[in-house]
Amino acid sequence: TIGKIFDLTVGKYGNKEALYDVRKNLRFTYKEWSFEINRLANALQQEGVRKGDIVSTYLFNTEELATTFFACAKLGAIFNPINFRLMSEEVAYILNDAKPKVVIFEKMLESGIEPIANRFPHTAFWFIDEDAPAFAVSYKKKVAAASRSAIQAEIHENDLYAIMYTSGTTGRPKGVLHCHRDIVEQSLIVISATKLDSHDNGLVTAPMFHCAELHCAFLPRVHVGATNTILHHFEPQRVLQLITEEKITKFFAAPTMWNMLLQEKLDDYQLDSLKIGLYGAAPMAPALVYACKDKLGIALVQAYGMTEMGPAITFLSDEDQISKAGSAGQACLNHEIRIVRPNENGPSDPDDTVPAGETGEIIVQGPCMMSGYYNNEEASIKSLHKGWYHSGDIGYLDDEGFLWVKDRVDDMIISGGENIYPREVEDVLYTHSGVLDVAVIGQPDDRWGESVTAFVVKKDLALTAEMLDEVCKNSAELANYKRPRKYIFCDVLPRNASGKIQKFMLRKRLEDLTQTNEL
Ligand code: AMP
Ligand code: MG
Repeated sequence: TIGKIFDLTVGKYGNKEALYDVRKNLRFTYKEWSFEINRLANALQQEGVRKGDIVSTYLFNTEELATTFFACAKLGAIFNPINFRLMSEEVAYILNDAKPKVVIFEKMLESGIEPIANRFPHTAFWFIDEDAPAFAVSYKKKVAAASRSAIQAEIHENDLYAIMYTSGTTGRPKGVLHCHRDIVEQSLIVISATKLDSHDNGLVTAPMFHCAELHCAFLPRVHVGATNTILHHFEPQRVLQLITEEKITKFFAAPTMWNMLLQEKLDDYQLDSLKIGLYGAAPMAPALVYACKDKLGIALVQAYGMTEMGPAITFLSDEDQISKAGSAGQACLNHEIRIVRPNENGPSDPDDTVPAGETGEIIVQGPCMMSGYYNNEEASIKSLHKGWYHSGDIGYLDDEGFLWVKDRVDDMIISGGENIYPREVEDVLYTHSGVLDVAVIGQPDDRWGESVTAFVVKKDLALTAEMLDEVCKNSAELANYKRPRKYIFCDVLPRNASGKIQKFMLRKRLEDLTQTNEL
């Protein structure tokens, strides 16, 4: 269980630095943190939280989120970290679905809770900063008043531990259920893939509510007795400064964050301590991978996966970054990946596999697989059909077992009957040095069904559509029908907190522009 691995670490590394919360300038050894976790667990128990009850956090990256993670584990409570980007009605949807006993939140997110708190009379709202609003109580006071003695709850590895709501690209968020064992297995897999040990100091800078940061970076470090340096939210200069000052050895960041780091004056910092950078959660263009290797001189590991699987299901190791650029790597330990023929009338059949090199739906089995979606049997049955998680991603396996993720089924463009994966077009556009960011979508087209449109953020203001069209024409990797027929330059692309481009918003923007004849 997660509580157990924490106790084992305290036993071995009690006096080692466990965490540093940068915002509060607070440092805990494992022993000190353990007392804090026990205090919170006792305080939650006094509030009425019992085994199987849900505790939500609506927080940026904070010591309190980290402490709640383990306090829930000790109580047998179910941890529900809510996306801090969500607005009040989206939060209300989750609170209605999950019905948590306690919600822990912070001042910077008060506006997401204040308008809806009175709709949840059976939920206690705990506020981590000074001067709690009238509808909430002080987290600090609750914890200060509680005992630091250990909680004795009977918890099994297959007891539920977490509900994580996935944003999805369409529809309502779904609550992904994980047991203790799923997450512990994921942690073990990450420890070996990123060669973690107690000497590491990892920076937490991607959102902790997302399992990429929580399960593939934060937790494995606790598992081995390493240090977590927690940055409230991503700011490129703060990240570089912390790497320099705290001698950070490893961290995870989404592709867009790596891109922002590379725009900084790297020579002003001392980055020698950095050994491995983990990236994933969204596709990263090979050109950006090369730039990271070149400018930072570190080893890179890519993770590909999804919340439902814990999340990582493949890793691309450092030695394969160049020779297999663009691939998501090979299946994680104990994982099996298949490519199957998509079925238009329902979930694809796990036995209907396609040969190596052929494209289909990515399905997977592994020890970190979710138990299902909370309150949503229909979606659970569909996505876990015959014991395989059906990802909705399309890709192929090459003859060495490397996975190549092409795109989401929903984002594929069909033009003149031919499939176009936006990612292949984006990767080519990205090779132009004047491009900072790019996203490709399909636009309804009378003649071709759909045509390709590219949204581009310029790095170099002199960049023109003609220059980009030239790049596409000269690319040996892009057939003529895949060339964007339209370029739209913009200041920024809409992304969710885990760095994925929100293509539905771009489709909407394109629709609006077309209707108002601005194109
Ligand atoms: P989520 O559950 O919110 O993390 O979203 C999972 C989805 O993110 C996957 O189904 C993929 O479409 C996408 N994704 C995650 N990691 C990668 C990666 N390394 N490369 C490409 N897409 C990714
Ligand atoms: Mg998802």
